[in-house]
Amino acid sequence: MERPAIAGGKPVRESKIFYGHQYIDEDDIQAVVEVLKSDYLTCGPKITELERKLCELTGAKYAVVCSNGTAALHIAALSAGVGEGDEVITTPITFAASANCALYCGARPVFADIDPETYNIDPKKVEEAITPRTKAVVAVDYTGQSADLAPLLKICREHNLLLIEDGAHVIGTKYQGQMNGSIADMTMFSFHPVKTVTGGEGGVILTNEEALYKKLLLFRSHGITRDVEQMQHEPEGLWYYEQVDLGYNYRMTDMQAALIISQLNKLPMFIRRRKEIVARYNEAFSNMPEVFVQREIPESDTTRHLYILRIVPEKLTIDRKQFFEALGAENICCNVHYIPVYYFPYYEKLGYRKGLCPNAEKLYEEIITLPLYYAMSDRDVESVIEAVQKIVEFYRR
Ligand SMILES: *Cc1c(COP(=O)(O)O)cnc(C)c1O
Repeated sequence: MERPAIAGGKPVRESKIFYGHQYIDEDDIQAVVEVLKSDYLTCGPKITELERKLCELTGAKYAVVCSNGTAALHIAALSAGVGEGDEVITTPITFAASANCALYCGARPVFADIDPETYNIDPKKVEEAITPRTKAVVAVDYTGQSADLAPLLKICREHNLLLIEDGAHVIGTKYQGQMNGSIADMTMFSFHPVKTVTGGEGGVILTNEEALYKKLLLFRSHGITRDVEQMQHEPEGLWYYEQVDLGYNYRMTDMQAALIISQLNKLPMFIRRRKEIVARYNEAFSNMPEVFVQREIPESDTTRHLYILRIVPEKLTIDRKQFFEALGAENICCNVHYIPVYYFPYYEKLGYRKGLCPNAEKLYEEIITLPLYYAMSDRDVESVIEAVQKIVEFYRR
């Protein structure tokens, strides 16, 4: 039997491979350079063009692009009317921003447990967590598989809550045949470099509701309006504008927008490659009893942002930490998504304790994020698989 590198063997590859990496080509570079030579570096034509393209892509009526996905979630929560004393239900298996957006507004995040097989928020647990103070649900499309939006929307409608979709992972995925982005009341995409499409930084909120759209625009830019209908006083002249609410400067630059537009031209290619890699991983791992493959729901036609390998601890002599280190020794540099949000000291200080969401806590103990990105070669994919196989065979119980 071959020895894993951590036990003195030879690594499956000489060079390191990371869990994610952006793909930037000459077209992307040219797109940014053109903006730099133009009249507008921000609030220019690339912003409107990108917003139109995102509406076309998703079928959403309105798009408000922001400096990043976290800012987008913040203005979504504000536009949903989330404020002091309110509650916002979300999943613990996510990046902190999904819950922090409630804290920014003075509200309390309430964590509902995940489904143990799809790893997405469990609609039944959401329903149980609703109180008279609940204002909104932030559902995360973990790894790019759509959250189960139909039951979530039903629950939100029954209880008069807004459904905000944290779709940081979901671009390119369809739910019940419809592109994610036009289904929930508001959907956020992130354009951080590890995400499927990047602008360096960047985010967007998509919505079909005009009233929400108007609020989003205000909160994105200081609460300032030039729309006479939103003003409290008669305009004093053509220069006149009013600050009618307390907003922020969460605007995106035209350089970011141009890069994202150029990246979106490659989205079909990104989707195809990600699906290919995921299919290959699934094929290799689904008949290994020592690991679980994330369950796919038929409603979601998934473009995966992250690939999660879940170990079955009872079938191995090593735990997740050791498995992770063994992969590292093979030069397969992985990650873990995510540490349950309420484990963080800041949340602990707010009174959250371990034990809240048992399915999420168990998942966290057993997961490793494997490399998945457009530019991975077939050889890269095979070396990841070989490394997993070698480790599993050596440490099989
Ligand atoms: C990346 C990410 C965010 C934050 O997006 P930024 O653009 O980095 O601010 C929020 N939620 C999830 C689930 C993410 O993966």
